[in-house]
Amino acid sequence: MSSTTVSISGQGLNSPHLCRVDLSRGEAGTGLQIFLEDQSVPWWANAFPGEVSAQRTTILHHQGQNLRGMEHLSVALAAWPRADAVVRIFGGDIPILDGSAQPWVNALTQILGKSPGFALQKCNLEYEEHWPSGYIKAKPYHKLCINLSLGMWKGGAPMVCEINPGDFIPEIFLARTFITEKEWEGALKSGLLQGAQEDCGILLKAEKDHWGLAVGGAFRHPDEPLWHKCADLLGDLSFLGRQFPRLHIEIHNGGHAIHHKLMQRIRNVIT
Ligand SMILES: [Zn+2]
Repeated sequence: MSSTTVSISGQGLNSPHLCRVDLSRGEAGTGLQIFLEDQSVPWWANAFPGEVSAQRTTILHHQGQNLRGMEHLSVALAAWPRADAVVRIFGGDIPILDGSAQPWVNALTQILGKSPGFALQKCNLEYEEHWPSGYIKAKPYHKLCINLSLGMWKGGAPMVCEINPGDFIPEIFLARTFITEKEWEGALKSGLLQGAQEDCGILLKAEKDHWGLAVGGAFRHPDEPLWHKCADLLGDLSFLGRQFPRLHIEIHNGGHAIHHKLMQRIRNVIT
């Protein structure tokens, strides 16, 4: 049986106060509707119409209001591409929970039933950009293929995620966010991550020739950090709508800021 509303509360990543998200099924044909606080009209529906910026997470800017860190919820919503879903957000931030999208998948399964898997749409984009530490290359493809690497992780060896329509890929949802001990200290000094707790992701510590876990138990996947980066990319892409572009994307040392540039290019060719 599916319940009508599932409420999830928790610490936001950037603010020390509690945030809450209520998820429920929408009226037939209404698609995805996002509300802030007690708004009676959706802040946005189906595809995010505003501006985005990056500060460790994606920040959505629309109608004079901002929302941080929705990408983990957004990638979970993409696993129900045609569902009528209402998301009501309280507190201006999204609970970070365990730092993965899995709690959102669990909640959405409760209200919407089993995921039918991802959906894809054609995307005629050729895009390539290089910066001092990395690059992105995107070109049309018959499915979505993400080839993702990080210089810091296993000498830059990539993970490959191939998505066909109807696929549900557990690794995407299970992978937790991560930070290195050095970045962690830097973020705290600059006033970021004030809401972060020990159990809301993984803390990587440098060992002789690899990264170990200072906090977070065991890796959920041998390449968990790469899979989380992949989830972040998919979460950002799903702000364009819950159909992923049929692209071959190669990305090295990426992050939200370059995802946003890619999103802008995709927006230009799909609308
Ligand atoms: Zn993330």
